[in-house]
Parts: sequence; C-alpha cells; structure tokens
Amino acid sequence: MDLGIRGRTALVCAASKGLGRACAMSLAREGVDVTILARGREALEKTAEDIHKASGVKVTALVADITTPEGRAAALAACPQPDILVNNAGGPPPGDFRNWSREDWIKAVDANMLTPIELIKATVDGMIARKFGRIVNITSNSVKAPIEELGLSNAARSGLTGFVAGLARKTVRHNVTINNILPGQFMTDRLKTRLTVNAKEAGVTLEQYLDKRSQVIPAGRFGDPNEFGELCAYVCSAQAAFITGQNFLIDGGTYPGTY
Ligand code: NAP
Repeated sequence: MDLGIRGRTALVCAASKGLGRACAMSLAREGVDVTILARGREALEKTAEDIHKASGVKVTALVADITTPEGRAAALAACPQPDILVNNAGGPPPGDFRNWSREDWIKAVDANMLTPIELIKATVDGMIARKFGRIVNITSNSVKAPIEELGLSNAARSGLTGFVAGLARKTVRHNVTINNILPGQFMTDRLKTRLTVNAKEAGVTLEQYLDKRSQVIPAGRFGDPNEFGELCAYVCSAQAAFITGQNFLIDGGTYPGTY
C-alpha cells in the first residue's frame, strides 16, 4: 500500500532511539523527508545515517532538548512547516506520589503535556492553511490502564489526551488529524533499563525475567519498535484522513477490557 505521503516533511521528536526512531524510519521509507532530534549527538547522527541509507530521503538531525523553549525553537527553525508532527519525549520517573514535589509535577506536565501542546500550537495553523496535516502523539498504555508507580506519567499524558480530544474535532475538516498512539511494552533501551533493574531486585537473570514478563503479554512477546513505527506511518497516511481524536493501543493484547 502506498501511503500517499511521498515528498511530505515530518518533524519527529525524541527520535534517536526506540519508538521515535522507528516512527522516523517508517515515515522515511514512505518517502517523507524527516527532521529528527534528541539530546545526545552520537546516537542521533548514527540514526540519521541509518535512516538515510535505508530510504534515500533527506534527513536533518538536530541536537535539542524538546522540553525546553530553546529546544522547541531550534526544532521549528530546522523544520518550520512540517506536514507531519510526531510528539515524543522521555517519560517521567516512577515513584510514590508522597515524595513528589511541585517541581516534579511541573517537570512531568511540561515534558509530556505542555511540550506537545506548544508544538501543536506552532504548527497546526500552517497545516490547516495547506490542507494537510498529521499529528501523532506518542503517549502510553498508562492512559487507558494506569500504572501505579507511574503516577506522573498517568496524569500528564491524560491531560494531553483530554486536550487533543477537543482540538482533533476542530482540525479534521481541514484534513489535519490529531491522534495518540499508546505503546504497551516495546523492547527499547528505556524498557531494557527498567527491566534490568527489576531483574536485579528479583534476584534473577535478565533473560529469566524477560521470559517471565513476556509471558504475561497475550502475544507472548514484547513489541518490536518497527511495529509501532508502521502504525504511526499509517496514521500519518493520506488514507487516514477520516481518523482523528483516537487513542490507538498497540500492546499485544495486554489491555484486558472489551472496549
Ligand atoms: P528510549 O528507547 O529511551 O528512547 C527515547 C528517545 O527519546 C531517545 O532518542 C532519547 O535520546 C530521546 N529523548 C528523551 N528525552 C528527550 C528530550 N527531552 N528531548 C529530546 N529527545 C529526548 O524510549 P522509548 O521506549 O522509545 O519511549 C518513548 C516514549 O514512549 C517515552 O515517553 C516512554 O515513556 C513512552 N513509552 C514507552 C513504552 C515502551 O515499552 N518502550 C511504553 C509506554 C510508554 P536522548 O536521551 O539522547 O535525548
């Protein structure tokens, strides 16, 4: 299936590794010129090279922290009129809410709610004027099924989801859609780091721990980031113009509800 987005431009945030990288790769394979950003230069430049080699599209790599005003300004200077915006950033740390200060809350809300809203604000009117736009926010399965120790994430991402639900109905008339993709457990650096700590705490090898954890997922395995990237590319396709304000769970069947 040709997704009909060849020659479009995308700004993909937090994309040197993991889910953001996979989204950028899948979009590039569809012929989309991508601007990718992350804070660390080394992995970013390697990813830019890999994407260019795999797709032949123009890849711009920008070292920036997207949660800062300077980082967002640099991102928009590097890609001023994206047709596609993929919002992503690192997730807040786990913990007990009794230990979180106001500053901890502001940091989480800034990174996982206000940063994507700022980027939407800066790009959506241009998309509306050009009659094409696709905005995808990478959120989390914790929006549908809260994860106790990730209260900062549950809350900040739910705030973004609520905001998007309203705006997405306003933009779709202009062929600008806004959707969220909710990852379950994908084998990325972030997950590996977390599970390595968990395995140590449980006194088992990482291999034993991964095996046990993967069996809890109905699919019997962790997600492959490429699967996430491919869904993102479809949501950004020309064909997906009638899909907006949705929350797509991609979790190998983990969410237990009927709806
Ligand atoms: P990852 O493998 O650790 O990759 C994170 C990427 O984001 C890296 O490229 C990182 O590069 C970049 N990044 C982080 N903070 C940034 C910032 N402030 N500004 C710019 N770039 C930044 O993580 P992932 O697993 O792909 O997770 C992506 C998002 O999905 C996170 O918010 C995570 O909480 C959420 N999520 C993931 C899963 C999962 O199973 N993987 C499940 C639920 C939710 P630098 O560090 O160099 O900046």
